[in-house]
Amino acid sequence: MLAKIVHDVKEKSQLVQWKNTDSVIAWFKQLKNKERLKFIQFDVVDFYGSISEELLEDSLTFAARFTDIDEITKETIKQAAQSFLVSENEIWIKKTGTFDVTMGGYHGAEICEIVGLYLLSQLAEVIPREFIGLYRYDGLAVSNARPRQIEILKKKICKVFENNKLKVTIEANAKIVNFLDITLDLSTSIYKPYMKENDTPVYVNRESNHPPNVLRNIPLEINERLSRISANQQVFDEAAPPYQEALDKSGFNHKLKFQPPNPAKPKKRCRKKEVIWFNPPFSLNVKTNIGKEFLKLVDRAFPVGNPLRKIFNRNTLKIGYKCMPNMASAISKHNSKILRPDTRPENQQRCKCGGSECPVGGKCPEKWVIYSAKVTEPVSGNFETYTGLTSRTFKTRKQEHLRDFNNSDSRIKSKLSGHIWDQKDKGLGYNIEWSIIDRAPLSIPPPENAYSV
Ligand SMILES: [Zn+2]
Repeated sequence: MLAKIVHDVKEKSQLVQWKNTDSVIAWFKQLKNKERLKFIQFDVVDFYGSISEELLEDSLTFAARFTDIDEITKETIKQAAQSFLVSENEIWIKKTGTFDVTMGGYHGAEICEIVGLYLLSQLAEVIPREFIGLYRYDGLAVSNARPRQIEILKKKICKVFENNKLKVTIEANAKIVNFLDITLDLSTSIYKPYMKENDTPVYVNRESNHPPNVLRNIPLEINERLSRISANQQVFDEAAPPYQEALDKSGFNHKLKFQPPNPAKPKKRCRKKEVIWFNPPFSLNVKTNIGKEFLKLVDRAFPVGNPLRKIFNRNTLKIGYKCMPNMASAISKHNSKILRPDTRPENQQRCKCGGSECPVGGKCPEKWVIYSAKVTEPVSGNFETYTGLTSRTFKTRKQEHLRDFNNSDSRIKSKLSGHIWDQKDKGLGYNIEWSIIDRAPLSIPPPENAYSV
């Protein structure tokens, strides 16, 4: 609902709030008589953290001039900004209370937008609204005033933020600024890619474990993006070398070339389709073409004529791979796992199997274990392995399995009993070797038989 409010306010107020670099470039391009203008650049210090409940309240009151906001909506928006942190079973709240605009979520981002618009509306009283814009907490304005007057403007801008209990840093009187990832030059009307000093781009290697279409698109996207933020061929050629070098290093065989962006096609207003995404992890180690199989399943489950086909078909069910955690995160996860002190209570019970009789070397009374059963067919030597997880003791779970092997109704209870019964049906014998693979993490109670292999 906040998204709609933001949208309405933006449309009706004509305030300039940028969503991305493209909109900044569009704004820059339409400025007239650039050679007579100068930049005023400002940035709000700790914007998210400085937004108080009061400021949000004021912003919503302001927004209500452009769109309907009832009390319930207002309350909900404020409620949704209550946050606290749970760490190691302790609850933490901010010193100032539970109201906190958090980073990383939609709600926080939308609150920032509505507050941003409110601030812009106040700044519009200092500088004409078409000459000042904001991207999150980065602001940029132009003015054709004399340096001395610009200093006064600067003070007025500071005052606006001060009134809202926000701090800003401002620089004024520049002809060239670096804003977001571009450099804008008023004297030449040129915009070009901007890279922070000592910032070297690094891309994933072409040989890495990523879906092929992702890898294929990397150089194309870089090319497209660089072209989009370059005013002309010359600017592009000057900016390209570090990117080209990074691409070469990652094993891509692509020569960056300036492609003037297509004149924006009038967007067809199409209704947003409801798409359900299936996001399996991608790994080169998997031989099966999961995507193809998935779509085949869709066709098979909802054939032409099926009443549900309207809802479930290849246009509404789509597949997009997600990447597996990279090496660094796999290592750090493992490290934190082995370094974390084991807070689980030690087992008090002793194994009563009697020495070498115990199938898991005396560990049968342990709770929260991941265990494995290897079922071997004695004649052929073929085997299958089953992996299970239990929150009870291994012993209890094993006995349950054994009961399932004696009752044919229980063949559906687990993959393991199903397999045993298949063997029995074929008149084949079986040997089982049990083992404990690991202790399960205690934080999330695992369901019985969470997975089986
Ligand atoms: Zn035992």
